[in-house]
Amino acid sequence: MADKKSTRLVKAGRRKKWTGGVVNPPVYHASTVLFDTYKEMRDGVKKAFSEELFYGRLGTPTLWALEEALAELEGARGAKIYPSGMAAITTSLLSVLKAGDHLLIADTVYEPTRKFAGQFLPRLGIEADFFDPMIGAAIAKLFKDNTRVVFLETPGSLTFEVPDLPAIAKAAHARDMYVLVDNTWATPLYHNALEKGADISIHAVTKYIVGHADAMIGAALANARTHGLLKYATFQLGQLTGPDDAYLALRGLRTLEVRLKQHQQNALEIARWLEGHAMVERVLHPALPPCPGHQVWKRDFTGATGLFSIVLKAGEMKNMGAFCDQMAHFGMGFSWGGFESLVLPQEVALVRSATCWDATGPLIRLHIGLEDVDDLKEDLDAALKRFEKTL
Ligand SMILES: *Cc1c(COP(=O)(O)O)cnc(C)c1O
Repeated sequence: MADKKSTRLVKAGRRKKWTGGVVNPPVYHASTVLFDTYKEMRDGVKKAFSEELFYGRLGTPTLWALEEALAELEGARGAKIYPSGMAAITTSLLSVLKAGDHLLIADTVYEPTRKFAGQFLPRLGIEADFFDPMIGAAIAKLFKDNTRVVFLETPGSLTFEVPDLPAIAKAAHARDMYVLVDNTWATPLYHNALEKGADISIHAVTKYIVGHADAMIGAALANARTHGLLKYATFQLGQLTGPDDAYLALRGLRTLEVRLKQHQQNALEIARWLEGHAMVERVLHPALPPCPGHQVWKRDFTGATGLFSIVLKAGEMKNMGAFCDQMAHFGMGFSWGGFESLVLPQEVALVRSATCWDATGPLIRLHIGLEDVDDLKEDLDAALKRFEKTL
């Protein structure tokens, strides 16, 4: 596919067979699909996995359009979508793991992913060990005879380290393992995880692709090695996404590039300004040199988005209300990737075991939205001043 990404974002998934000739695919609400003849129903069984209507749970054109569009953006063999990013993660892991296997998982993954690996998978006889995401090719030292899968997130949750995915994938593939990557931060637009060595690239579509904080959806983009396994697990686990949410994701996808350009520009301006702020000890943003893995970001990514963290020089988490409670523009809450700015203080040490988080001051994750940058700076400056009074 020779088209540039901007063109693909506009065109991908819009087969006439699915749209019926209007611009956007209609929202198909379906359970039963009616057949005219017994023969047609029997033949339908054979076509059920090849994007022909058969039964609602096996998908409809609204869902296929989104799957095809996402797969095309990273050059995947195929994509499956899920009712949340978390469902995409758990289904992807279950598609390639079985009892008796060992999983290596980066210490910096999203907290619910961490809990699934550390607390749920052991119930199925799958053992998980956490690793330092900056380990690179030395990950080979952690391989056991039964290591089957390496899972990482790039950049890491909260602390934004960028692992050397190509080096880790090379070591893992030399032993025939699968490499799964949570690629949510960059979206398929700014990082092609499949090209850099992932066998499955996972996205919380909830974030930038939906982009308007009004739907939850996940996606797993598979290469030739994993596509069959992923499809099978998705079907067996009964994973299905609502058509309205798929429609919102498709609609968001069309404007992803223009939104991301502005998120990137606003976030970088604010991140650089925060680097010089008297209350800020560190800014953790992959596009800024102090961030661990910045060189990997420069080599492998084609852009940065609006989510990053700051570490304050001093202060206590219990006083975070002084920072957060009276903000004029930043909302407080989970998730990110919508048009609005968000703030989220987090206790990093509680969600790390293979690495050591030694910052003395609190960490605050920021999502920079599409508001005016000067308004946002003023809001942050006032919050930092209120917090300074608690020292
Ligand atoms: C939000 C998030 C998820 C989970 O997505 P949901 O749609 O909320 O289930 C997974 N990974 C990352 C990196 C996320 O930020």
